[in-house]
Amino acid sequence: MGTRILLNDFEYFEPETISDAITILAKYRKDAKLIAGGTDLLVDMKKGKIKPKYLVNLMKILDLRYITKDKRGLRIGATTTFREITASKLIKREYPLLFEAAEAMGTVQIRNMATIGGNICNAIPSAEIPPALVALDAVAKIAGRRGERSLPLEEFLMGIGKIALKSGELLTEVYARSPPPRSGTAFLKLSRTTADLATLNVAVRVTLEKNGACKEARVVVGGGVGPTLIRSKKAEALLKGKVLKEPLIEKAAQAASAQLKPRPTSIRASPLYKIEVCKVLVKRALLKALERTKAGGAR
Ligand SMILES: Cc1cc2nc3c(=O)[nH]c(=O)nc-3n(C[C@H](O)[C@H](O)[C@H](O)COP(=O)(O)OP(=O)(O)OC[C@H]3O[C@@H](n4cnc5c(N)ncnc54)[C@H](O)[C@@H]3O)c2cc1C
Repeated sequence: MGTRILLNDFEYFEPETISDAITILAKYRKDAKLIAGGTDLLVDMKKGKIKPKYLVNLMKILDLRYITKDKRGLRIGATTTFREITASKLIKREYPLLFEAAEAMGTVQIRNMATIGGNICNAIPSAEIPPALVALDAVAKIAGRRGERSLPLEEFLMGIGKIALKSGELLTEVYARSPPPRSGTAFLKLSRTTADLATLNVAVRVTLEKNGACKEARVVVGGGVGPTLIRSKKAEALLKGKVLKEPLIEKAAQAASAQLKPRPTSIRASPLYKIEVCKVLVKRALLKALERTKAGGAR
């Protein structure tokens, strides 16, 4: 609805290295726009919301497309597609919440095209991958003319359509810490239809001490519950140091839902609905993550 076939004229680049992409960005600055899968950008261009004069396609840069694990964690290149994430045995086995978040995204056609970098950099508050990555303490790796820098993903996401990239920079990688032993993770999404954006999504991680008490927890809620996702440090603090029984989990879920600030104008659900359903989803996700800690390693 409201889209058109005719786009404005633009010059198109297909750099094959990160440094060539940076050179093009430095030359054309605000007139240039990066494109990866195009599943967000082309919609905005067709609607006439943005009219870039120069389009820089990242998909020919092979150095941006990988999934690898080192001693400390998981590295995912920015142009890795959602299809590649769901097809990764490593991710399914060791980072199930990332698998669940990627699988919950759009339709198979969208997952074939859409990239993890695009999902993060488009910065809509209902995006699927950011809550899962924040629950893994992920770090965004950035490259620009002045070299490389890193930023916790939580700080990288600044608000609706706002990210911490400076002019001429691009996101190159997300690096997610491997959950310590006795960890469990889970991601849940509620949406009106399978292809719809999240009405609410929840990503959690719990890590237990040897004696069964909670050593560390992450509770992250997305889905238009504020200008960006909300990490509930209040819920996390309630869980820390305690044995995770159902009444405590319910209390943590209530604490998380009390922190939400949904927009009254959201087209997907009323603020009250989001606040109520958050209690249910956080509780379910924490119970699922707790169950996964029993697998022994990080799940
Ligand atoms: C029918 C449909 C269903 C959808 N369903 C969902 C859903 O369920 N959940 C969900 O989260 N999203 C959904 N989306 C949105 C979209 O598919 C995702 O956000 C996708 O991950 C965007 O990735 P992309 O590679 O297509 O990004 P693009 O459209 O190529 O780019 C998006 C933005 O990110 C910037 N960008 C891309 N890569 C980089 C980079 N490496 N560094 C800096 N900036 C960069 C671009 O300049 C642009 O501003 C849906 C879209 C459609 C059309």
